[in-house]
Amino acid sequence: MCESTCGMLASAAHMLAFAPHLCRICLEEDALERLEQPCGCTGTQRHAHHSCIQKWVNEKGNTECEICHQQYKGQYRCVVGMSVQRLALQVAHVCLQVMMQDVQW
Ligand SMILES: [Zn+2]
Ligand SMILES: [Zn+2]
Repeated sequence: MCESTCGMLASAAHMLAFAPHLCRICLEEDALERLEQPCGCTGTQRHAHHSCIQKWVNEKGNTECEICHQQYKGQYRCVVGMSVQRLALQVAHVCLQVMMQDVQW
């Protein structure tokens, strides 16, 4: 039993050591120099594209990593609430259309 556990651990360590560098956001493999390590996360969660992190920052509205709770290092602009506001407007617009349709009908 120990042997198989040890074997599994060894192969896991082997896989980790030879794991390709992935962007944790778009999950695409890329060269290490094209990836950034913006926070304290380790392992496969460690790397991400600058542009992917920027998009993610815009979407969630802050520059804190939700896994390790560190602020992302680097030039990330946090456009607070912009996408959320736009989404709310779109939802309001759709609601209005539905309401108007109801009235006409
Ligand atoms: Zn990416
Ligand atoms: Zn992190």
